[in-house]
Amino acid sequence: MRALALVEPGRVEVVERPDPEPARSEVLVRMTGVGICGSDLSVFDGHREVPGAPWVLGHEGVGKIVEVGGEVTGRHVGQRVVIEPNYCCFTCASCRAGFTSGCENRKIVGINVPGVLAEYVAVPAPFAWLAPEGLATEELVCLEPYTVGAAASSRAEARPGQRALVVGTGSTGLLLVVHLVERGLETWFVEPAVDRAELAVELGARPLGEDADLRFEQVFETSGTVPGTELAVASAAPGGAVTLLGLATDPAKIVPAMIVRGRLTVRGSMIYEHPGDFAATTAAPPRGLGRVVRCRFTLEEGQEAFLSARTVAGKSWISLGEEGAPT
Ligand SMILES: [Zn+2]
Ligand SMILES: [Zn+2]
Repeated sequence: MRALALVEPGRVEVVERPDPEPARSEVLVRMTGVGICGSDLSVFDGHREVPGAPWVLGHEGVGKIVEVGGEVTGRHVGQRVVIEPNYCCFTCASCRAGFTSGCENRKIVGINVPGVLAEYVAVPAPFAWLAPEGLATEELVCLEPYTVGAAASSRAEARPGQRALVVGTGSTGLLLVVHLVERGLETWFVEPAVDRAELAVELGARPLGEDADLRFEQVFETSGTVPGTELAVASAAPGGAVTLLGLATDPAKIVPAMIVRGRLTVRGSMIYEHPGDFAATTAAPPRGLGRVVRCRFTLEEGQEAFLSARTVAGKSWISLGEEGAPT
């Protein structure tokens, strides 16, 4: 089979790989589409270490089941699935406490186990979610990053009618805007890139401009920058929640008294918990996913897809064959 692999920092190539054999607890998926996101780009750039090269990339995957392992129940050949690309162990202390996002043995697809940018992928059955009906492949590739935002919103207990600020509208931020607007929050955003800002407006959010002295009951930081993190904390209304999704790694200047006097809750939100968060988003997907997708590439155009993904507003994805007609 063909797959898209990182051969050296900054360069991907189509490589040949043996077809995977599903284990008894796995399903074999013929991939149809894979989204590209920030963590793929940090691997592409060589900023995030992977076990070797060539290394098959990608974790936001959609496909169709073509084979089912002997022990699998509830999954059948022909079903369309969305992959939850973080395989937790179910046995460590964190998993047993219900926090699979903190699993000590977590298999992170595309990071410590090979990615899904391949024609065939063997997936543990509980992590192959039945795709909601009526969505095209390009919408389904957004479901994993959408779930990251939806999990953050649910951890923050965001409610209809609240005022929300999203800092950064890369694809995670845009999908979070989709979620918050559909959920009935009055949503503002901060984004320096003009085309991303325009897209956020199209999705129903308002730019934080003249009303910059507004304060928000819900603030979500997705830029992963120090100024973004500082702005997020400074923008919360008294009693508000500040939820950090971005992974800024440098120290930020935050005045502790501001958190105390403002009675703020500052929380880190790491991916999602298995199985609740994917169960929720696959059962009730939002309507606006397709509006975040902008660029479609083939496997052969992988290099171009990775080089342009950071500057494109909205999500880029790679189509692997079968067209994404809604089912
Ligand atoms: Zn992602
Ligand atoms: Zn675990």
